[in-house]
Amino acid sequence: MYAVCADLEGVFVPEIWISVSKYTGIDELRLTTRDISDYNVLMKRRLEILRQNGLTLHIIQHVISGIKPLPGAIEMVSWLKKRAQLIIVSDTFTEFADPLMEKLGRPTLFCNHLTTDHLGNILDYNLRQPDGKMKVAEAMKSLNLKVIGIGDSYNDINMLRKADKGILYRPPQNVINDHNDFQVVNSYDELRQVLSDYLEKES
Ligand SMILES: [Mg+2]
Repeated sequence: MYAVCADLEGVFVPEIWISVSKYTGIDELRLTTRDISDYNVLMKRRLEILRQNGLTLHIIQHVISGIKPLPGAIEMVSWLKKRAQLIIVSDTFTEFADPLMEKLGRPTLFCNHLTTDHLGNILDYNLRQPDGKMKVAEAMKSLNLKVIGIGDSYNDINMLRKADKGILYRPPQNVINDHNDFQVVNSYDELRQVLSDYLEKES
């Protein structure tokens, strides 16, 4: 049996924070884990910007309600669900991800969550567990599943390393340069091909 542990943003949906940046006109919110490899540094800065600009959870959820999955993503998710246990492993938050999961046909999701006050101000974020992406891959292996890891960014690397097979999906060049031992895949068609070949070889 196989488990596919796949990242969300950049793999099945666009980067949420880039949409928030466009909506609010705040350029610094464009920075993602593709630019800053330390997630905690990045999140603390994002929350500071939200606070300074009075941007509540409701505003961000409004932006997210307008985000569509990447073209072909819904079909890709359903293709994966037929061949493996698909788990979306994300560094986003349940409060952000829910409408996107609905659009993707409700795959299993492991992610983080926010602390907000009664006005919707985001006070803090809570990691599900430290190095949570890697831990999901590790847990699946402990259940005797072969794990395929798919991600596009620095925060996926430990998960990809833990997996039996790690695939970088449309990563930026700096991620490729820093981790050039992973197979790089650039479209869903190519991803289907690579996974079909892998599953056939292993079976
Ligand atoms: Mg990503």
